[in-house]
Amino acid sequence: MLRIRSLNVAYGGLHALTDLSIEVGEGQFVAVVGPNGAGKTTLFKAISGSVTPLSGEITYGGRDLMKMPPAERARLGIAHVPEGRQVFASMTVLENLEMGAYAGRGRVDWKTLLPSILDLFPVLDERKDQLAGTLSGGEQQMLAIGRGLASAPELLMLDEPSMGLAPTIVDAIFDRVHQIHQQHNLTILLVEQRVAEALESCDLGYVLETGRVVLEGTHDALMSNEQVRRAYLGM
Ligand code: ATP
Repeated sequence: MLRIRSLNVAYGGLHALTDLSIEVGEGQFVAVVGPNGAGKTTLFKAISGSVTPLSGEITYGGRDLMKMPPAERARLGIAHVPEGRQVFASMTVLENLEMGAYAGRGRVDWKTLLPSILDLFPVLDERKDQLAGTLSGGEQQMLAIGRGLASAPELLMLDEPSMGLAPTIVDAIFDRVHQIHQQHNLTILLVEQRVAEALESCDLGYVLETGRVVLEGTHDALMSNEQVRRAYLGM
């Protein structure tokens, strides 16, 4: 579905991604994990089109994304839930969801998707007329994911949904993401610093360090890998 080959991205002299190759198959849950500054956000920006790579290939369903404007990529069914949530603070929960639908393909009437989104996140239903800026951090993260879902995506890209949240809230968010993958049959690409939680639910994982993939494998292979267990899982 999504295929990235030998991707290079630099900010001025700083190489943020070096010869990065990853693949996401239809219906898969793929996690890209790595420490601060490893290049995870840059990878997402390259896929959604807000940074221009120096070289490499990005294809989605066989179509070349590299020359496609960001809005067109969103219309293909790629939803990017950004790091730090970035909800529209002065809009209500419902208006935020509507903005998500607007960014999407426009093929699906978002109102038909609304019940399933509110079902997934009942707290958004309770607070649908509340201004997004007054929600708690966890609620804002749920709204950001809901906004992504409102665009009727095929591929949902989640940038560090755990960021800045208390452990119990992080568990609730990961449970929901798992549910989205299972019940809504969506393809998920997750980037995370929380390695254990991210690898727990994935089919396939990539470990990124200073812009390079240093390890890749299936869930089982990575969870039993000595290097991963020692460096990332604290075992
Ligand atoms: P974090 O988890 O801290 O967000 P990350 O893995 O998402 O980290 P990126 O944000 O992709 O990493 O950053 C990769 C590298 O590129 C870092 O060294 C960062 O300082 C640098 N970088 C990111 N954005 C820019 C920018 N706009 N200008 C210059 N350097 C940047």
